[in-house]
Amino acid sequence: MIPKKQFQSTLLSWYDHSKRILPWRDNPNPYHVWVSEIMLQQTRVETVIPYFNRFIEELPTIQALSQVDDDRLNKLWEGLGYYSRVRNLKKAAIQVEEQYNGILPCNQEDLESLVGIGSYTSGAILSIAFNQPFTAVDGNVLRVFARLTANPNNIKDPNTKKMIRSTVESLLPKNRVGDFNQALMEIGATVCKPNGKPDCLYCPLQTFCLANQKNLVEDIPIKQVKSIRRKEQRTVFVLKYNNKYIIEQRPDKGLLAGLYQFPNIEGHLNMTDVQRIYKDAFSIKQIASSKHIFSHIEWALVGYFIELQEPLDKGILVSAEDLLKTYSIPTAFQTYKKLILGGLL
Ligand code: SF4
Repeated sequence: MIPKKQFQSTLLSWYDHSKRILPWRDNPNPYHVWVSEIMLQQTRVETVIPYFNRFIEELPTIQALSQVDDDRLNKLWEGLGYYSRVRNLKKAAIQVEEQYNGILPCNQEDLESLVGIGSYTSGAILSIAFNQPFTAVDGNVLRVFARLTANPNNIKDPNTKKMIRSTVESLLPKNRVGDFNQALMEIGATVCKPNGKPDCLYCPLQTFCLANQKNLVEDIPIKQVKSIRRKEQRTVFVLKYNNKYIIEQRPDKGLLAGLYQFPNIEGHLNMTDVQRIYKDAFSIKQIASSKHIFSHIEWALVGYFIELQEPLDKGILVSAEDLLKTYSIPTAFQTYKKLILGGLL
């Protein structure tokens, strides 16, 4: 059993001295907390900082987010991945405008009725922005508590998560709930780290930690075997006509929905196959190969650069500047975009 008062004061005084300066902590209003928490899902803090600053500068209010053009929104998110997050942010902002007078609700039920807000995000918003007694147990907090309590169960199991959530809940302070939750996340991100050995020597929670006492730090958390990703081969065509490049918009639903891409097809085509498809091309050459890993699929891409003599009747013709400023090209195709922007194609 973790001694509550001692645990709270140790954790909070460590947080006061060691917390990182992060832009969403300057002014933790509900909108800022919400946007930062959505960006931080599956993404490292260092990566999120410039995206957050740019996003808030351009869309400073929920109303601005609800009205932004989809292409511009995707451009602001370009490179962060998991684009369904930003689509849901806008959908939820529209809900807030229509149902809650543009003000993010401050109760769990209404918050969780918004698209993309589940129990973790609502807990983070309610505790950090409204100082309400809710837990915000993310992967970092799960790992820290699995170790603190030397939990022998699979951390991915819903029952294990439930057990850990109720332990965290029993330790919540009356005041500074948001700081308490953020301190736990911070310990998980910077001390009791996900990869490699945790820095137990520098950990303020060491005296409470059963895994440390039992020498089980490297065995806990117990994890499920990862599911195997489906591998997919694709051939990408960088098509150039009249100093412009052809891109196309992906379908509204599914992987990378609504984003722009260079035309591509399934399978690895060889030069003869490509010459057969683009038989009237001015020139064709093979360019870089690349790889991109999504949560459930792995793409192995081969690329061809094709200079056309005639325009195609499909796709959108764009300049290199349009690619830079207007159209959101997902990270999976960045290799080809960089070759264009670098003047190599
Ligand atoms: Fe994690 Fe080590 Fe701290 Fe335990 S003592 S919480 S294992 S960093």
